[in-house]
Amino acid sequence: MILTNYHTHNELCDGKGPIEAYITKAIEKGFTALGFSSHAPLPVKNDWTLTEENLLIYLAELDQQIFKWGSQIQIYKGLEIDYIPGYQAPNQKRWTDLNLDYSIGSVHTTTGLSQNPEYCCIDGPEDELKWLLDEIHEGSWEKLSEAYYTRICELVELGGFDFLGHFDLLKKRNRDNACFSEEAPWYHRHVLTALDALDGSGIIMEVNSGAISRGALDVVYPSPWILAEALKRDIPVMVNADAHRPEDIDCNYDESCALLRETGYHEIWALVDEKWQAVQL
Ligand SMILES: [Zn+2]
Ligand SMILES: [Zn+2]
Repeated sequence: MILTNYHTHNELCDGKGPIEAYITKAIEKGFTALGFSSHAPLPVKNDWTLTEENLLIYLAELDQQIFKWGSQIQIYKGLEIDYIPGYQAPNQKRWTDLNLDYSIGSVHTTTGLSQNPEYCCIDGPEDELKWLLDEIHEGSWEKLSEAYYTRICELVELGGFDFLGHFDLLKKRNRDNACFSEEAPWYHRHVLTALDALDGSGIIMEVNSGAISRGALDVVYPSPWILAEALKRDIPVMVNADAHRPEDIDCNYDESCALLRETGYHEIWALVDEKWQAVQL
């Protein structure tokens, strides 16, 4: 087993601490590779993504850090790019022109920019989720879920990124099924449609422990039953932290690997020696 993580934020977006603190922590913990994935700038003002100016600082800083630490650990340059229909997608030239080592495609909200000028997110503060649910989706989790997974399907169809971020992010505030039941037939239908879109796309699904390190949930994205359905479709998987603090880069790593083994997976995907490869679990 090797230690890796490709979903890492830092203080230039919404993480804590400088890029170098994540690298030295990874070296201390014996990591083989660490990938950085700041939130790509958005076409709306916000306090959690890179600004256009910070994007350049981020890329230059990574080059410097690779020069400084590259002999001790493999460091990869990535971005977590939001899909916003009609505005932003990971396959756009402006992102592919950056010569990144990889990118993450993510969905954080469920409605268009004109209706949602503040860019309220499903994983944002509770009032943002409440606003989306009540004002956009008529208080219906079924409608919110349908909008979310429809976006996931569109994003996968567009492609142009390496792995899909936090597959079932909409469950962040659904501890103990407080908002909706994952057993609901409509929820299964939405999830399975998104898995069918992933099937054969070559896009990797991450097991993401971000809700655990932030104290929101005790479980990873996606739920175990979704992983079992992903395995039936041979969807490739990887293990990530979605770290927002240096000490979280290996959060839940062993448990996430154990969950995948229990599900029946024998390998995970990792970017090592500059290429994506399957690594024995
Ligand atoms: Zn995200
Ligand atoms: Zn993230």
